[in-house]
Amino acid sequence: MSARVLVVDDVPANVRLLEARLSAEYFDVMTASNGAQALEICARAECDIILLDVMMPDMDGFEVCRRLKSNPATHFIPVVMVTALDSPADRVRGLEAGADDFLTKPVSDVVLIARVRSLTRLKMMTDELRMRALTSLEIGIQAPESAAVSDTGKSGRVLLVDDRPSSYERLAPVLSTEHAVDVEPDPTQALFHAAEGNYDLMIVSLSLADFDGLRLCSQARSLERTRQLPILALADADDNTRLLRGLEIGVNDYLMRPVDKNELLARARTQIRRRRYTDHLRDNVQNSIEMAITDALTGLHNRRYMESHLATLAEQNVARGKPLAVMILDIDFFKAVNDTYGHDAGDDVLREFATRIRRSIRGIDLACRYGGEEFVIVMPETDLNVAGKVAERVRRAIAAEPFTIEKGARRIEVTISIGLATLERKDEPVADVLKRADVALYRAKHDGRNRVVAAAA
Ligand code: GH3
Ligand code: MG
Ligand code: MG
Repeated sequence: MSARVLVVDDVPANVRLLEARLSAEYFDVMTASNGAQALEICARAECDIILLDVMMPDMDGFEVCRRLKSNPATHFIPVVMVTALDSPADRVRGLEAGADDFLTKPVSDVVLIARVRSLTRLKMMTDELRMRALTSLEIGIQAPESAAVSDTGKSGRVLLVDDRPSSYERLAPVLSTEHAVDVEPDPTQALFHAAEGNYDLMIVSLSLADFDGLRLCSQARSLERTRQLPILALADADDNTRLLRGLEIGVNDYLMRPVDKNELLARARTQIRRRRYTDHLRDNVQNSIEMAITDALTGLHNRRYMESHLATLAEQNVARGKPLAVMILDIDFFKAVNDTYGHDAGDDVLREFATRIRRSIRGIDLACRYGGEEFVIVMPETDLNVAGKVAERVRRAIAAEPFTIEKGARRIEVTISIGLATLERKDEPVADVLKRADVALYRAKHDGRNRVVAAAA
């Protein structure tokens, strides 16, 4: 899918120029001739990147950028300021407004396309995460947008890889005004350092004496531990080719030497802010995956997870010639607990029940809440004889000690019945094993409860 670029400029000739160049590279181009129009387009259409002119009547580019970046609905759209101004002070003003990058008119083709490519690639990756995180919002996990909008990007952990004392002795103190900074003057140690240090940003000099800084950047991109670490390159003014190469291999942003202090700080903040936002999104996705397979009341796995995982466990055990046992546990007369002491007391019992089960089984056993007051425990590499002993241990762990309800005010006796079965044939469907365990459970209930019954083989 081609990325959608919004070009905003009050001079029609400028719009047409950028539109032609971007269209030639197969980008999908939309245009606006003023700030209000741009905001309107961003609010309704999905656009992947905005090229924003700074000097416009009514609302200038800085203001448009500020509004986009302070709105949770649009803050994640990358903004590139395009301007005739090129003093460091202007660049910093743009970055302070939240811009992701800055291009100076006349815009060089290669730089334009390289920036648009790398920023849209990043945007599409975040979109994917955002989409999954939106689903997690529906099941009650906090969306990270509001935190992202108010994040200052300060107090990050920064690794500066630079072998020239005259350079790092000047840059490190500047960065230290806002972040915790480590300097690594030995590029051969830098990757290790980056992987171990839990950094929010790595700044790499591309003019190292005996080492290619780009090699370090590319190694960082291929290593699992540093793949998501933002990289800011420090390039010499005559080093355009290598800089473009860097952007291609995943360098996130760059600064030209001599480095302007404020621009350094502003670019570092932007990268750190973005890093935290994507980390948040990723955590959200992780949480929602966990929620999808976990029972909220007891913290045990849920039925869906058990059913899909049981088949895998069965295959593995069959392949290794090992037995597999399954038990179904059902609390005796649980309805009476609810009827007598209330639903909250029933929930207390279920929670405590799960804790006791967890304590009675091995780490490789899989315990899940099968529904209501029924639980299933799957035991890999376990035959019927051993499973019978485990079941008896679980039964005793419940019956031996009364359960506490009503915040400790009352203690009640709880017992369970357990049905037990093992995988009998290589090709037996796991559903059949569960079925036989269920039949055994029914017998345990029928025979007087508080007991273990094993299914006949
Ligand atoms: P038996 O010994 O035959 O298993 O009797 P029982 O009362 O345990 O069985 P029954 O299936 O009749 O009742 C199960 C009860 O479990 C009914 C239902 O209200 C209660 N229950 C199911 N899920 C929950 C829950 O999440 N919380 C609480 N508090 N109760 C639950
Ligand atoms: Mg019951
Ligand atoms: Mg029941």
